[in-house]
Amino acid sequence: MGMPGVGMKEAIRVLMPEVASKIAAGEVVERPASVVKELVENSLDANATQITIEVRGGGVNLIRVVDNGAGIPSGQVELAFRRYATSKINTLADLGNIVSLGFRGEALPSIAAVAEVDILTRTADEEAGTYLEMRDGLGRGKGQRGRPPGTTIAVRNLLRNFPARLKFLKSSATENGHIATVVSQYSLAFPEVRFTLLLEGRAALRTPGSGNLRDVLLELYGLEVAQAMLEVAARDEGPPAEAMAPLPQVSGMVSPPSVARSGRGYLSFFVNRRWVNSRMLARAVEEAYHALLMAGKHPIAVINISLPPQDVDVNVHPTKTEVRFRQEGVIFSTLQRAVRGALVSGAPVPRIAAQPPPPSPRVPGPTLWAPGSIEAGPPAPPLAAPLPQASLPILRVLGQLSGSYILAEGPEGLYLIDQHAAHERVLCDRVRAQRQRQEVEVQGLLELVTIEVTARQEELLKGHGEALSGYGFALEPFGDR
Ligand code: ADP
Ligand code: MG
Repeated sequence: MGMPGVGMKEAIRVLMPEVASKIAAGEVVERPASVVKELVENSLDANATQITIEVRGGGVNLIRVVDNGAGIPSGQVELAFRRYATSKINTLADLGNIVSLGFRGEALPSIAAVAEVDILTRTADEEAGTYLEMRDGLGRGKGQRGRPPGTTIAVRNLLRNFPARLKFLKSSATENGHIATVVSQYSLAFPEVRFTLLLEGRAALRTPGSGNLRDVLLELYGLEVAQAMLEVAARDEGPPAEAMAPLPQVSGMVSPPSVARSGRGYLSFFVNRRWVNSRMLARAVEEAYHALLMAGKHPIAVINISLPPQDVDVNVHPTKTEVRFRQEGVIFSTLQRAVRGALVSGAPVPRIAAQPPPPSPRVPGPTLWAPGSIEAGPPAPPLAAPLPQASLPILRVLGQLSGSYILAEGPEGLYLIDQHAAHERVLCDRVRAQRQRQEVEVQGLLELVTIEVTARQEELLKGHGEALSGYGFALEPFGDR
């Protein structure tokens, strides 16, 4: 798409008051993660292909962002810290046509107002880098220093002089969690950029910058998810009505119904590669899964919507995470259709085949069926019910649908069994029974397994430590998250 970065050829200028007055006003720096977001967006706008983010003390002690982008010309470094100084837009008309992630000229001055900021930056046509320290919003100690082209910005002692606001920050672990979320989202939006996130000296995230979204998904969500994800592509739905604007282009990946999560935290939306929050987009995706997911389950999705910049207003909120679409309805239905299309074409086409009468009854083990389309296949075992409550009658298996559901015939007609749910239930009942007899099978691990959890998950784990140990899980905090 190559949209961000377009504005970087321009010099930095202070916006005219009539333009500046149209910028959505409000606090840019809410918490350390907002600083990380603004700095990463600046690096992306500068066309960086490598961005390293280093964080100490939950971002309060240090946030350092190093990029290999375009850099700031020596003569403009102080200007970059002036309010409403930006190289990305100029006129009122530009405000309706934003092609960069930044445009308000407020991030650097806002950050320098609440922290100590050191910048070292170099453009490709300059011999050396330019160094500047910002203290209490004023520049000092300007000098030259060696550096390859790009920019390093170090932010220290964030909000130290603002105890009332500092007090509202959560633990380092929580703030680091927010920072990791920001970097994860941008790494999904920019798979061609190599991101490294170091939290308290530990590599929390590294993406290869291969340009392949699946590689980023592997890093963030693991192998099973990365392999299973289905590609969402704009499908030809016939020509749009004459007078209509060009259709938004939808791209990205969604999980098949067999891979789902218990929370909504796995939906990532980008509009022209800007990370946005949107209930409308979330609804469009979830409706595409209608009836395909168990209650309480949510899909994993990474969706980018490209559309002409005039068709989306990004100047709605100071943190730029909310957007307004000119044609909400079109976006909604295009997205829903694209996701549905991915799910349908990702699932094998059901082929109903006659089923020979089954042999002697057998209780299904935890592995019920291998994924695949409906096939006559080997004679299917009838399902007896090992479940203690709500037991099922003897069923005759007819086949399998979409690799996820078992179709069976019973005394009351057709039974549709979600095989993943059934498998989980079998395991769950087994573990529960063991626990009741106080003989949970505990298997010690040769090597400790480190799992990374979000701040919220960490809280939950802490609260249920005893219950978990009753089930044989020994947990210990490791690292600072
Ligand atoms: P905005 O991004 O809205 O323009 P900022 O305050 O974030 O405002 O940045 C001000 C200007 O400083 C940008 O317009 C850009 O020209 C320059 N700048 C900031 N960060 C970088 C960077 N990492 N690389 C190159 N230029 C940068
Ligand atoms: Mg910016």
